[in-house]
Amino acid sequence: MREISQPVVEKVAIIGGGIGGLATAIALRKQGIDAHVYEKGKEFRPVGGGLGLQPNGLRCLDGIKPGIVDTLKRSGCQVERVTLKTSAGETIRTSESTMMEKYGQLTLTIWWWHLQQILASELPAEVIHLNHRCIDFEQNKNSVITHFENGKTVESDLLIGADGANSRVREILIGDGQPRYLGSMSWRAVVNYQDELLPPNEVIVMRGEKTILFLLNLGEGYQQY
Ligand SMILES: Cc1cc2nc3c(=O)[nH]c(=O)nc-3n(C[C@H](O)[C@H](O)[C@H](O)COP(=O)(O)OP(=O)(O)OC[C@H]3O[C@@H](n4cnc5c(N)ncnc54)[C@H](O)[C@@H]3O)c2cc1C
Repeated sequence: MREISQPVVEKVAIIGGGIGGLATAIALRKQGIDAHVYEKGKEFRPVGGGLGLQPNGLRCLDGIKPGIVDTLKRSGCQVERVTLKTSAGETIRTSESTMMEKYGQLTLTIWWWHLQQILASELPAEVIHLNHRCIDFEQNKNSVITHFENGKTVESDLLIGADGANSRVREILIGDGQPRYLGSMSWRAVVNYQDELLPPNEVIVMRGEKTILFLLNLGEGYQQY
């Protein structure tokens, strides 16, 4: 009986230290599960674009780590209005956000890197293993053994692939090929820049013929184009 009541999953290896992998590790560790994150990068660098976190996502984050949304709000920017402009910069209309009345939270725009840093800071440093690129894994009856490019192996009860759009874990497990390019291209740049034409708490959407330009305020003086 004692054997049956023991938790089936005690140790979890999460591949990928992006926002999905880190948030999953926080949630699992809150449940007392020994979750570790394995990230191929040698360090967390200021990469990625801007993200809009919607109220449902913020509620999920607050569920796994109460108070984290307040930290995110201090870093990012709360979107109070969205302005639609022509490609020449003429305003078509400005809409005030109704998110607060409807869902109790505004949309939050934040730099992917800042979100990653805030999530990482909620985990003990020793459970984030940088310079660990997953190259292979094998399963047996009771566990998964993961192999890394640096020659290390890790045994865990469960392996979670959070290694992005070109997931190595998915490739090995499902092997359904590379993601399909559907013909849309997104160019993104994050710059530290302030201008009166970029008011805080506002997202600007400029529409061209077949193009859309989003100007997101990411907080702390950063803008995404
Ligand atoms: C243009 C664009 C705009 C977007 N806008 C939004 C938005 O407004 N709101 C929103 O919620 N989402 C948005 N997204 C989606 C969002 O960025 C993704 O859903 C999110 O980043 C996925 O998180 P993830 O942790 O699963 O993967 P990722 O963020 O891609 O992280 C994967 C991590 O795994 C690591 N890794 C990769 N391979 C390996 C390996 N073999 N071994 C170890 N580590 C590995 C990578 O280095 C990386 O750190 C947008 C995406 C794009 C492209």
